[in-house]
Amino acid sequence: MKKASFVFSDGQLDYKFSDTHPFNQKRLVLTADLLKNIGALPDSAVVRSRMATDEELALIHDERYIEIVKKAGHGEIAPEAAENYGIGTEDTPIFEDMHEASAMLVGGTLTAVDEVMEGRARHALNLGGGLHHGFRGKASGFCVYNDSSVAIRYMQEKYGARVLYIDTDAHHGDGVQWSFYDDPDVCTVSIHETGRYLFPGTGAVTERGSGKGYGFSFNFPIDAFTEDDSFLEIYRTGVREIAEFFKPDVILTQNGADAHYFDPLTHLYSTMKTYREIPKLALELAEEFCGGRWIAVGGGGYDIWRVVPRAWSLIWLTMTGQPLPSGPLPKEWLEKYGPQSPVPLMPDWEDPDPLYEPIPRKAEITEKNRHMMDKALHLIRSEQQRRG
Ligand SMILES: [Zn+2]
Repeated sequence: MKKASFVFSDGQLDYKFSDTHPFNQKRLVLTADLLKNIGALPDSAVVRSRMATDEELALIHDERYIEIVKKAGHGEIAPEAAENYGIGTEDTPIFEDMHEASAMLVGGTLTAVDEVMEGRARHALNLGGGLHHGFRGKASGFCVYNDSSVAIRYMQEKYGARVLYIDTDAHHGDGVQWSFYDDPDVCTVSIHETGRYLFPGTGAVTERGSGKGYGFSFNFPIDAFTEDDSFLEIYRTGVREIAEFFKPDVILTQNGADAHYFDPLTHLYSTMKTYREIPKLALELAEEFCGGRWIAVGGGGYDIWRVVPRAWSLIWLTMTGQPLPSGPLPKEWLEKYGPQSPVPLMPDWEDPDPLYEPIPRKAEITEKNRHMMDKALHLIRSEQQRRG
């Protein structure tokens, strides 16, 4: 069995709203090239992604919505009519063949799932996925179809798996949460900047699930300006306690890289330190609880030059058990992309320390985040105590 499969195909690059839209799949090329440059991504590790079928998309999405997306991408619907379905908005504009490109991203995550669940690879990575804002019948926040939601339902139906979904994107993983809000066999965890000032505004600590699913949805809304140490404290403590409580068969992680200080859309202050640690715990928990079964997808990440390629390379390196590099990035990569980048590229794998001026409110933010975490974990902690 391979250690890990890297799912990709050129078709994933067709998911493109416009030349100026912040969601830019050039990130995938930059990351794969960086990994190839350090000799960490042999051709034998790459598995071509396929398109998801309409039937697979319908595991989550309304058939009517799928039809609308197809029509929009083929220029067969009035823009006003599409807007009722969240497409053709400023965030999620219509583009040619948007159904095909979106279904390709979902198919990538399904390919990753099959690699792992059929035992061809211990772990799998689909950086083209992670479109966590997609809803059953509506596009939202740059996301048309929700690959993670479709993949989780697919794992339930095809493999009977109990899935732990861990979302470290700076935005709340709302689409995935609402897909499984009443389902006790899927546990969703999202760590994100509080919705007070940030899209989509949901993800409060009190969103705990409903009906039989009550207690299986977890949210850690951290304060704006949260730095590495506090982010990682919440992530390590929270995610570990939840994994011990839920005992999943398989872990799916969404790895949006938009919590970084440089990210233009959010207000969190993570550095590359956080992105070195996130995959480590995912791997550790997958080995401890799931016989290694770990599927990772991409997500947000809008500093595509300085942040995403480094952050996402670390997921692959962790998955494949390769040492995490430090020091300078490969010269060829810097020389190839430096002239294309609108900002000077970061020269090293790590960020300089410090990357920014110290924040006066650090202690207060750390305390506030701890208090929030205690609330989020209160139920499972008291249950643990009862069990002794
Ligand atoms: Zn995001």
